Amino acid sequence: MDYSKFVTDEILDEIASVAKVAWNHGWAESSAGNLSLRLNVDAKHPKSDLVLITGTGIRMRELAENPGPETLGLFERGGQEKLECLWGSGKQTSEWFSHFEVHNVLASRFPEKRAVLHVHPTYTLAWLEVAYREIRFADSVDGTLEDAGHTIKKGISFITGKEDDHEDLPKEKMRRWGVMVRRLLSRLEESHVYLKDGVDVVEGMGMGSEGLATATSTVFKSGCGVVLWPKHGAIAVGEDLQACLDKLEVVDKAAKVDLLVRASKHV
Ligand SMILES: [Zn+2]
Repeated sequence: MDYSKFVTDEILDEIASVAKVAWNHGWAESSAGNLSLRLNVDAKHPKSDLVLITGTGIRMRELAENPGPETLGLFERGGQEKLECLWGSGKQTSEWFSHFEVHNVLASRFPEKRAVLHVHPTYTLAWLEVAYREIRFADSVDGTLEDAGHTIKKGISFITGKEDDHEDLPKEKMRRWGVMVRRLLSRLEESHVYLKDGVDVVEGMGMGSEGLATATSTVFKSGCGVVLWPKHGAIAVGEDLQACLDKLEVVDKAAKVDLLVRASKHV
């Protein structure tokens, strides 16, 4: 079976365009960053549920210059236990657990969202590092858990709870993360447009792990658009890859503004 017909030039052009921007932003050092798309395939086709995903070890700059069978792989979503590459590079990105788990959630709850983009946005990472410290070491972080449900449509949910935490800490950490995210989003009015589905945080899970995939996909069940991974990066979902990029750009701008404002000591 020739699966190449499903990977159209239009799809490859979008991938190249988004990969180029991510690389130029400095969000994809070395082989960091990866993306995936559920393809529209005739339901009568024997394998109609296909995911196109970055190949393992592929640099975003390579993807931007050469989107195709050497840099991408096509897999059947339902076949993730024993992945068979149907087209392209034989091995999928090391973050494939998260991509596939998130696609499982999207396909069942938000089928219009077909794209997943993961990158390492610089200001977002710096912002997370500052927030991470404040959440752990500040005597107090003003705001209630109710306040933390930022004014944008969806509430915030968090997977925290590392096992070595004090039993009271997860709820307090949750409240503190909520306050931090609410302040982040309040820095830009465009948050209400691009991030209206909400932004969540998942912390304490290792890169590429099944735990990270499970926690992240669980959070995406709430309908949020972006999940932040402290000390690692961010992952966004959307109707297409450009929509994912939009969300991550707005988060990163808000993070930059928040860091600058707070560095000014006026707030
Ligand atoms: Zn990563």
